[in-house]
Order: sequence, then structure tokens, then C-alpha cells
Amino acid sequence: MAVFRFKALDEVLARQPLQITREHNLTSDYFGYKVFDRPKMKKYLSKEAYKAVCDAVDNSAPIDRKMADQVAQGMKAWATENGATHYTHWFHPLTDGTAEKHDAFIVNVEDGGVVESFSGKLLAQQEPDASSFPSGGIRQTFEARGYTAWDASSPAFIVDGTLCIPTVFISYTGEALDYKTPFLRALNAVDKAATEVCLYFDKTVTKVQANLGWEQEYFLIDEALYMARPDLVLTGRTLMGHASSKDQQLDDHYFSSIPTRVYRFMEDLENEAYKLGIPVKTRHNEVAPNQFEVAPIFEEANLANDHNQLLMDIMKKIARRHKFMVLFHEKPFAGVNGSGKHNNWSLITDNGVNLYSPGKNPKSNLQFLTFVVNTLKAVYDNQDLLRASILTAGNAHRLGANEAPPSILSVFLGSEVSKMLDLMETAVVERKMTPDEKTALKLNIGRIPEIILDTTDRNRTSPFAFTGNRFEYRAVGSSANCAASMIALNTAMAAQLTKFKNEVDGLIEKGVKKDEAIFQVMKRLIIETKPIRFDGNGYSEEWVEEAARRGLTNVSSVPEAISAFTRKEFVDLFSSVKVLNQSELEGRAEVEYEKYTMKVQIEARVLGDLAINHIVPTAVQYQTTLLTNVKYLKDVFPADEFEKLAEGRLGLIREVGTHISTIKVKVKEMVEARKVANVIENAAEKAKAYETTVFPYLDEIRYHIDKLELTVDNELWPLPKYRELLFVK
Ligand code: ADP
Ligand code: MG
Repeated sequence: MAVFRFKALDEVLARQPLQITREHNLTSDYFGYKVFDRPKMKKYLSKEAYKAVCDAVDNSAPIDRKMADQVAQGMKAWATENGATHYTHWFHPLTDGTAEKHDAFIVNVEDGGVVESFSGKLLAQQEPDASSFPSGGIRQTFEARGYTAWDASSPAFIVDGTLCIPTVFISYTGEALDYKTPFLRALNAVDKAATEVCLYFDKTVTKVQANLGWEQEYFLIDEALYMARPDLVLTGRTLMGHASSKDQQLDDHYFSSIPTRVYRFMEDLENEAYKLGIPVKTRHNEVAPNQFEVAPIFEEANLANDHNQLLMDIMKKIARRHKFMVLFHEKPFAGVNGSGKHNNWSLITDNGVNLYSPGKNPKSNLQFLTFVVNTLKAVYDNQDLLRASILTAGNAHRLGANEAPPSILSVFLGSEVSKMLDLMETAVVERKMTPDEKTALKLNIGRIPEIILDTTDRNRTSPFAFTGNRFEYRAVGSSANCAASMIALNTAMAAQLTKFKNEVDGLIEKGVKKDEAIFQVMKRLIIETKPIRFDGNGYSEEWVEEAARRGLTNVSSVPEAISAFTRKEFVDLFSSVKVLNQSELEGRAEVEYEKYTMKVQIEARVLGDLAINHIVPTAVQYQTTLLTNVKYLKDVFPADEFEKLAEGRLGLIREVGTHISTIKVKVKEMVEARKVANVIENAAEKAKAYETTVFPYLDEIRYHIDKLELTVDNELWPLPKYRELLFVK
């Protein structure tokens, strides 16, 4: 094995650089050429079919069967002209990643030949084998069947000769079995609720769109070295490995130039992304060695998320072309930074007004502050739900690890916006304001600098930060489907905006003027939500204490976090805006518990195997070498001299022996703990048992393995070490 490691390194060094060049000079020449976007629809569809699709996208109008047939014809014509032979419904099941089942376009014709065919029925609906996807028991209680249905709002695209049609995945009785269904419902809910509130300020608003701009962090690891690490292959993270003598202390990776092989990968990736209409814009090194980030220009949230899922998928494929493996795990290496996925989120009206951009006058600024304050309230009231939407087995390693915010939700606003809220808080609004008071308040509100984008003090330690024209949910994990956190956020926001509107309307009905009614409700919300506002260092110990004093929740247990999904207040929340019903939430919680259990179970198995089959035999071999050495020393040297010479070696032999026996004992105990946990039927209790009785062994066993790694002859060590994994360019 030791030989293999060096061979792998040699291979890397000897490898010829790959020659990948841009296919065109201008990105705009080929951007989206694999996407059935509006210009292509215009070309391939009849006028009425084109209008039907646009209507479906813009106004959620249904598409009838006849139109669907026409769209299918045009889509097939375009796809086959561009080399597609197959089609698939492409969806986001509740696993990591996307799912697809490819079918060829061909159908038999009478004379024994085939022709390509595609109908509106096939475009609109398919029945994949729902039983292969997790549903958390929904299928058992209802119908075994599930089907996919076309999401016309996200355009079809071609990957590797297959026409991919974005779809939702639902049970036969309409329960959501995926991420997209509740995401679309949540986006619809926030659109409705936000539009209602906007009408206080602008009577012409008819629609509010949520935008999402994600920032995807990832690691690139040499393929050959990755393959020599069964823990990476099977669990996505290293379960052992002593820190390299140097990793990110010098901050030299972040600022250094992108290594050539990585740069070629990025260039290749961007090429493919552009062809698929994914507007990637930013690429850079991240803090940890071999860690990078890619971010696009933000888009409508559902489309942006499809693009994130699609990009993650093609990143894996393109990395292989460059002999890399891409890691999306939140914490692939202990001791160096993990990976997150910031979700930049904003709301924009159909008049083009970003509701999180301070406006030009007091009226639009009041609208801006209304949305900020309602966001504060939505986050404050739903801390546990927002946490449940991001806390997974992987992300739990990253949160609170001095590199990511702790499991406490807080909101950073920056000094400018905070000043405005403080001002509104002190304004007298309980009684009828005098005209002077009103003018003064409006004037002050109007004083928010129009562009605070560049002046916002950037707080990198906040889990949920206002960054000038959007909120950035930073606690999201790198492997996550953005929809999970976006469903929670948009649902919470929709419900809060509706409450706000009801309260303001209630006051107006009592004869309070509109402006004053808004001021009054806002003042109350500003006071109520004070505990969630925090502009200080979110990574500090003091914050954990301070947050507890403020009554903010701090949950780092994954199963405990998940339990929020089925808590009455959140079941009521989701049903009030019709995003998820009780059985869907129970199903989702079940799936999350199971995912957690399975991840820890697999890690425990892999670590056990590696410890017993790789590490212990290696340590025994090394110990035998030491023992042999002592024996020879004894034969050769006189007794007094021997004692001096052997002293250190005997200590080492004992030390190695202790680690070996401890590892064996701990692995045995871990297996026993698994056996006990495995017979627990209740998914929540089982996950809890895995967390409290199995998970701790992973670190305990690792501790001894990492000590051995430092001691045992390097030539014998069976796995590539951190210094190799993290520093091969
Ligand atoms: P950073 O936060 O690291 O400074 P950028 O300024 O590049 O990063 O922006 C990060 C992401 O935020 C990008 O995807 C960008 O398109 C997105 N973004 C910018 N403005 C908005 C907005 N108004 N709404 C949603 N996303 C936005
Ligand atoms: Mg950012």
C-alpha cells in the first residue's frame, strides 16, 4: 500500500497538462445553447404554444393537453437536432443530488423500423419507481405510486445526449416527495403575501419574486489519492488523519493564484455551465488548502436552485476529466475549514424594485424597512425551523467549529440599518403623531444612504446577514439542496408578512392612518425582535453565553434539530401558507432522521473496518519491527549498554501496544452500541441513539489512530496522509 501511495504521487507529477481551450471567443455566443429557453421556444413552437408556456411561467396558468403536445413536438425537434437521443424527467428527491431515468425517444413502427416520438403526455407526467426514493412513510400510508410532473418554469436542457425536463415528484395523492414541490409552493406563498404588503406602498405591484444567488464551496482532491482513501470514497469525509504540519495557518491559499490544473478544471466547468445557461461569475480559492468557491449571478430562486443542483452534478463529472474528485462534504478534513453554501436571498417586485434595497425617498425606504423588520421577525420566531432546515450529519461538524457560525440563529444588520430601527423604536407612535413628528420620522427614514452596499460592515461570522441589498443565509451546508433552507425561509416570511398585513389592516379599520398603522406595528416588531439582532463576533464564546441570556435557542444535536419539523407551531405555520401538510412534514422528519442514522452508521462501519483491517495490522507490524530491533540489540550489546539503548524503544513498543488494544476495545464497543441502536424502531429515537452512543466512538477511535499515524514508520502507513491529500496541485 505504501508503494501505491508513492506511485499515485508520481503519476500526478508526471501527468501531462490537459489541453482544454475555450470553444468560442465570447461566452455570450454559446451561453445557454443546450437550454430550451425562450428564444429557442420561439423558434421551435407555434405562436400559441409559445404563449402558453410563457403564460405558465409568468402567471402560473395551466397548459392544456393540446398545447403540451405541441410543446413536446418542438422540444423533441430541438433536442434531436442537438444530438439528444433520450429524455428524462429530472427531479430532486429527498436524497443528496438529483434523479433521472432515461428513455429513448424511439418507438416501433409497423415495418419493423423506429421513429423518434415524444408526446405532451410524456412531457407532462411520468411514473418513476417511487419506492426507490425516501418518503418517510408517506407512500405506505397512502399509495405506493409516485409521479413526476413537468415544472414549466424551469427550462429543459440537454446533458450527455439526454433531454432533461425539470419536474416535481409527488405521491399519487399529491403529497410532496421531493424538494421542488414545497419550494414552488413556498415561493408562491411569499409572492402572494409580499405583494399584499407592497400594495401599501405601490398600488401597481402584482407579483414579487424571490431571488437566490448561491456560493458553492468545495474541495478538489487528486483522484488517485482519493481512491486510496476508503473513508473518502464511502463517506465523503476523512474519518482519520493527523493534521498536516502546515495547513491554513498562513492564509496563503486564499490569496495565492489558482493552481494550473485547478484553473483548467474551472475553465472547463465554466464552459459547460455556460452551455447549460448557468451564469457562473466568480471563482476563487477558499481558506483551506485545495478548497475553492464558485458563484453565479443570482436568478429566480427555483431556477437558481436547479442550476445549483445541475452544476454540482456536472462538477463531479468534469473533475474526473482532470483526474480530480470534487468533495461537497461540509467537513472532509478535521482541523481545516469546512465548506458551506451561502444562500443570498432577496425579493423583487414586478416593477423591478428590490425590496431589500434602500430606496430613493421616505416611502420606498419605509417599504424597505418593513421588509427588513418582517424578516427579523420571521427569523426570530422560526429559529428552530431554520436550523432544522440546515442541520445535517455533515453540517453539524462545521457549525460552531470556529469557521462557521454556531447553531444559534442571529441576524446581522450593520450600523446603518440598525440606526434606522433604533430611531423607529424611539419614535412616539402609540398616540396620533403630530404632523411635525411624522415629518421628522419620515425625513429620518429617508436618510438611509441609497447605496449601503459598499458601506455595510461585512460581518463574516453571522449566520444570517444583511449585505446591502439582500440577506445572506450563511449557515447552509455545501452539500445541501438550497431548497431545504429556502422553503423554511420563504414559508416563514410568507406567514409573517400575512400576519403583519392583518395587524396593519386591523388598525386601519379602527381608523388609524395607514402610515401610522405601519409605524405602530413596526415599532412593536422592532422591540420584540431585539434579541435576534447581533452584529458582534458570532464565533466567540461570549456570544454563546450572551445568546443564552437573550433566550435564543442553541441546538447542536441533529436529531433534536430535526424534531422541529413536527412541532405543532411549525406544522401550523406550514399549513397556514399551504406549503407542507402534517403528513408531509412527518415524512420529511422521518427521512432526515433516517439519513442521519445511516450516515453515522456507515461512518462507524467504515472506521471499524479500516481500524481493524488497515491500522491495527500496520501498527502490529511496526511494533514487531521494534521488538526485533530490541532483541538484536540485546544479542549484540552488553547488558548495561543495552538497557540504555532499549529504553526509548520499549516505551514506544508499549505506547503502540496501548493504542492497538484501545482501538480494538473501542471498535468492539462501537459495534455493540450499533447493535443496541439498530433494534430501535422509532426513527427519532434511533437517530438519537446513534448520536449519543455510536457517534462519540468515531472521535475516540480516531484519536488513537492519529497518534499511531505520527509514530508508525511512514513507509508502512497504509493511507495517504493529509499533507498529501491537501497539497497535491
Ligand atoms: P460575497 O458575498 O462573497 O461578497 P458576491 O458579492 O459575489 O459574494 O455575491 C454573492 C452572491 O450573491 C452572488 O451569487 C450574487 O449574484 C448574489 N447576489 C447579489 N445581489 C443579490 C440580490 N439582490 N439577491 C440575491 N442574490 C444576490
Ligand atoms: Mg457571500
